[in-house]
Amino acid sequence: MHSFLKFANDNRAGIIRLIQELVECESPSDSLEHVNRFLDLLVERTSDIATAEKIGVSQSGKALKLTFHGGDGDGQVLALGHADTVWPLGTIERMPFRERDGRLWGPGVLDMKAGLAIFISAVRALVATGVRVRRTVCLLVVPDEETGSTYSRCVTEAEARNSLAVLVLEPGTGLEGKLKTSRKGVGHYTVYVEGKAAHAGVDFESGASAVLEAARQVLRLNELTDLGRGLTVNPGVIQGGTRSNVVAAEARIEVDVRVQRLEDAAFIEEQLRDLTALDSRCRVRVEGGLNRPPMERTEGIARLFQTARRIAADIGIDLEESATGGGSDGNFTAALGVPTLDGLGAVGEGAHASNESILIDRIADRVALLAGLVRLL
Ligand SMILES: [Zn+2]
Repeated sequence: MHSFLKFANDNRAGIIRLIQELVECESPSDSLEHVNRFLDLLVERTSDIATAEKIGVSQSGKALKLTFHGGDGDGQVLALGHADTVWPLGTIERMPFRERDGRLWGPGVLDMKAGLAIFISAVRALVATGVRVRRTVCLLVVPDEETGSTYSRCVTEAEARNSLAVLVLEPGTGLEGKLKTSRKGVGHYTVYVEGKAAHAGVDFESGASAVLEAARQVLRLNELTDLGRGLTVNPGVIQGGTRSNVVAAEARIEVDVRVQRLEDAAFIEEQLRDLTALDSRCRVRVEGGLNRPPMERTEGIARLFQTARRIAADIGIDLEESATGGGSDGNFTAALGVPTLDGLGAVGEGAHASNESILIDRIADRVALLAGLVRLL
């Protein structure tokens, strides 16, 4: 592992340059043209060490699969990343890439452009040190993770099914860079409430307020939250009515659901589907579903983490694990039963926020950790 660490330290300037290039090539989820341009940049920067394949995931959306040269082909190890960021085009002008206070700053640097650069550098470390790699090593970069991976999900799942392990390049947790061995599943639901409009002054009693019904439903939804089970139901948006002198005919509640265990996903789905109006003159209809299944900490995931922990210890890092309520594409691969380790990307803070930054001092050990994992898996 020390030779990987030495490689990363010796090549620090080059790795930082690659991170800068990736950050400065903006790639918001809503501009496929720019996301594709970003994928082209990745192809260019890896042309000497990998074979590139673009896989169509929607009409013009593409995922990029890089297969690195030199693996012996005894099974596949899959690294997983995304090209898109939450930052609109032009953000780079007011939030330029910069190096300051021991950190690299810029839109998407943590989530997850540095993670991609770190993995590419890990492969370069393996090439430079002449280490034999038993597996075929692939990096899949999808275009739509920040918007729920609706289009790329089946490509990710197909690649995962062919893999012995999945390494997710999302940022680590906190400034310690803890790995993520469990993630909650995420669901989005909309509860539509239909009432009966009436004049609030003239004809109040003939109305059935959808707003009042929605308010009652919100209280009901709130009761489904069970913190002990890691189950949360958040009615985050409520809308309804037209004006104060009208008994409201319509209302709508948007609900975010998080589950720690797959069985709770089915439970909550049933609870929501069975919602009925408390006022019999109103009607309630629910749409939506689970977007990402939970990533449960299986035996395989625990073993993978122990391997990572040993590699990190060898280079002086006390690696810890964490559980998070946020989802990633690792949720999909773990749900298939493929051992998945997440949070292997950069160490920093401020994902999706204006203080998004990574710790320069933690680039090298992440490169060494990923190179070590690829070698040992
Ligand atoms: Zn991300």
